[in-house]
Amino acid sequence: MVGRSHVLTSVPADGGRGVIVAESPFYPLDPFWPDQPGDVGYLQSDGLEMRVVDCVTGAARKSGGELLLGVDVPVRRGHPDWHWVVVHVVERSVPPGTEIRMLVETDRRRAFSAGHTASHLTALALNAALAGRWEAPAGTERDGLGHPDVAASGAVKSRIVLNGSVDTYRFPGLAAETLPDVAKDMEARLTAWIDSAAPVVVDAAGPDLGDRRVWRCALPDGTAARPCGGTHVNHLGELGRVAVTLEPAEAGDELLVEVRTS
Ligand SMILES: [Zn+2]
Repeated sequence: MVGRSHVLTSVPADGGRGVIVAESPFYPLDPFWPDQPGDVGYLQSDGLEMRVVDCVTGAARKSGGELLLGVDVPVRRGHPDWHWVVVHVVERSVPPGTEIRMLVETDRRRAFSAGHTASHLTALALNAALAGRWEAPAGTERDGLGHPDVAASGAVKSRIVLNGSVDTYRFPGLAAETLPDVAKDMEARLTAWIDSAAPVVVDAAGPDLGDRRVWRCALPDGTAARPCGGTHVNHLGELGRVAVTLEPAEAGDELLVEVRTS
């Protein structure tokens, strides 16, 4: 992925400098739900090449005030009273106005996009597989496929990895002996969905980092949608083969759900 832009400013960031540009193809880590790592890559200008070692979210109050980075931003990404920016962490500052070429490390991004799409699909497969095997708490909303969305209500943590994800959920009372059947059920559903090569779209309310985004996928058994600021594949056929592992986490009621695609 390549972009062109000009530098607006540089701020101190992670022991180096955080370069902010007018428009960026880089994906920055969301500090409030840090599931997908920020992009890495290069900024190039007049024979100069700088490695982007990380990419984070920055924000400043629209009413004025300093730019805050990452977890120092006190509100959730997208808060309308704040102006949101992509911060490219490099070794040294670049003068404002400098025209730059921006290169995102494509293979890594593609692998995280596959992992992120797989994570959402896995949540849907988990909802489907647990329906009838575990009683959802009263009032649990239903997902786009009509199953209680226990993946949303039970989510503790999500970590997108290259071509997969490791998600932690809380399902009090789920019997450990059912886990192999649940995993098999999930794999069968995921395989069928991937075989359908259904398109994946991310609808954005606007071009800014803070604009609301919704992930949508028209699966053979219904259309699924959920708010998501991450990156994704264009269609499920890109995911290939899939393997699911379920295991109880250290903390009693927690379940680790790991999915890998290849
Ligand atoms: Zn997401």
